[in-house]
Amino acid sequence: MPRDLTEGCPNWRQATRLVRSGTRRSGFEETSEALFMTSGYVYASAEEAEAAFKGELQRYQYSRFANPTVTMFESRLAALEEASFCRATASGMAAVFAALACMVKAGDRVVASRALFGSCHYILAEVLPRFGVETMLVDGRDLSQWRDALARPAAAVFLETPSNPTLEIIDIRAVANLAHGAGARVVVDNVFATPVLQRPIAEGADVVVYSATKHIDGQGRCLGGAILTDDGDYEETLLVPFLRNTGPAMSPFNAWLLLKGLETLELRVTRHGENAAAVAADLAARDDLTRVLYPGLSTHPQHDLAMRQMRTGSSIVAFELPGGKSAAYRFLNALALLDISNNLGDAKSLATHPATTTHQRLSPEERAAMGINDGLVRLSIGLEDVDDIKDDIRQALAKI
Ligand SMILES: *Cc1c(COP(=O)(O)O)cnc(C)c1O
Repeated sequence: MPRDLTEGCPNWRQATRLVRSGTRRSGFEETSEALFMTSGYVYASAEEAEAAFKGELQRYQYSRFANPTVTMFESRLAALEEASFCRATASGMAAVFAALACMVKAGDRVVASRALFGSCHYILAEVLPRFGVETMLVDGRDLSQWRDALARPAAAVFLETPSNPTLEIIDIRAVANLAHGAGARVVVDNVFATPVLQRPIAEGADVVVYSATKHIDGQGRCLGGAILTDDGDYEETLLVPFLRNTGPAMSPFNAWLLLKGLETLELRVTRHGENAAAVAADLAARDDLTRVLYPGLSTHPQHDLAMRQMRTGSSIVAFELPGGKSAAYRFLNALALLDISNNLGDAKSLATHPATTTHQRLSPEERAAMGINDGLVRLSIGLEDVDDIKDDIRQALAKI
């Protein structure tokens, strides 16, 4: 068994945890975390195999259940989030689906905010109802809508804050209080904020989900996801059996990339936030845009709440052009440095047109209800020199 070097060091500060937590060194005494690219494990005897399968012996059995490199990633992310449990998944969507599906059954209710990432919306609006789960979408900014929806018992609440792509902010503590009154567990998709900027469990959430594909990798290399919780009952009786038997396991190779991503997460997210704030201020100073959305701007309608829940405004900026789709396309096609891509949280600055990409599948009415119109452009601000990013955006806006 690899040695757990974290034992006895529970008081490490955040920067130390990101570099060191979770490391399990093998007998070869390697500096960098080892990549255990193995699907199975061997037993010294038939009796040992039996004991492992009975749960009498804690050891690695099969990489759909657990793998040492994946364990290192899970331990490091749990230490950062200050959560008791972390389970890695193959992608962010696998995390969202497993976090919800493991705890609902036919006849249950799930209440969610309407402003959601397209695939999260698909799970709530299409997949869960097919299995007899009633889902209800509310305007997440409006506490009276949450109060009405949670006046009846519910099994789960799902929300994303800030939301993709309109950067709406939801009061996690207030919604968690209402949800707990209705008997629901609260699942927060914390992808945009990252654990560096926002700690949903400390605000009252029961479960936090990540697409590690975004800032945790942060370099556009691989997919990954994670589910974190302090709720031991949820983890042991619902989540782990669901994951073991349905199989959305993270590849050890991806866990190894993501472990290295965590080492620099705080540095990167801090710089992403500084660059995004500068771009947002530059856009807000113009008079040719309909609106500029960035939680760090004092003009954001929920700026105070955002700054109470988050350390900075994060890396995503959205803005609306008065000229609709054709203006948005002229802007995107004129970009020379920023790439057109629906990914986000990458070192490279990226731009996308949500109405025709990430949220294309929705009806125009659903998009309108989410505040996504044809002039909306979403920017994921990267780690290039901020003046180069601003220059490119300015020259592309000038070409409209
Ligand atoms: C990207 C994203 C997801 C899905 O993650 P994948 O790793 O692409 O499966 C879920 N929620 C939000 C907010 C995202 O941005």
